[in-house]
This record gives sequence, structure tokens and C-alpha cells, in this order.
Amino acid sequence: MLSCTKTYFDVPFAHRQHLHDGRCSFIHGHNWDISVGFSCSELDENGFVVDFGKLKFLKEWIDANLDHACVFSEGDPLVEKLVGAAPEAWKIYIVEQCSCEGIARHLYGVFDALVRKNTNSRAWVSSVRVWEDKKNAALYAPSQSVES
Ligand SMILES: [Zn+2]
Repeated sequence: MLSCTKTYFDVPFAHRQHLHDGRCSFIHGHNWDISVGFSCSELDENGFVVDFGKLKFLKEWIDANLDHACVFSEGDPLVEKLVGAAPEAWKIYIVEQCSCEGIARHLYGVFDALVRKNTNSRAWVSSVRVWEDKKNAALYAPSQSVES
């Protein structure tokens, strides 16, 4: 199966893992890298899995939802208190789990739906890898046929 990858570098957003027993429970930021893997049923007329020039909808989604946001996990008991104190200071985004792994899994769902919609289901997302820094990354790839 042919596949290709596009990576969005240095997307700044914060997160906090409220259940963590260490420093990850403090709000802190990273410049995240997000790498999206694509696969397709058949190549397009140019021989592309996806046309990299026609993926602006992914960048727009990232800019609208993650750029300069604070990502919280569902059930974080402090969200209302924090945001309520000064709502204008926050751009929040809530996911099931805001770990690197949870963000990768969440983005897979969002991006896969967008790619299928924008390609009439000719192409789809096969994996999402998220780096929170140069050392630490998580991969969500539900199919076993993706490269590691
Ligand atoms: Zn972190």
C-alpha cells in the first residue's frame, strides 16, 4: 500500500494532565510536531496519495483549534475554575485524554474524517504521530499495515 506523510512543525499549545502524580499536572506548553500519515484506495490523477497543496483544511483546523490553546482532559476538575476566572485569557480544547497518546488518537479521528470528506473517501488517515518535544512522541495507527 502506498502512503505519504505530512508534518506540521512547532504547533504551540499547552496541556495539563490532572491525574498525573508529578509535574505533568501543572499547565505547561510544548511546540508540538504533528505528523499525519495518509493512505488511499487509488492514486489521484497526478499519482498522489493526497495532494499536499490541497491539505489546507488540516492546517486551518490546527490553527483554529490547537494553536495557542490549552488542551485539557475531559473531567479535569479545575477547568471551570481556571477558565471562569478570566475567560478572555483562554483558548481551550478538550479531549478524552490530553496525553501525547490521547492527543494522537483524538487527532486521528478528526483528521481522518476531514481527509475522507475532502477526497470523497479516496484517501484516509492511516496514522498520527505527535511529538511533544524532540525526545517524546506517541503514535496512533489503528491499522497494522503502517510503517513505524
Ligand atoms: Zn507535556
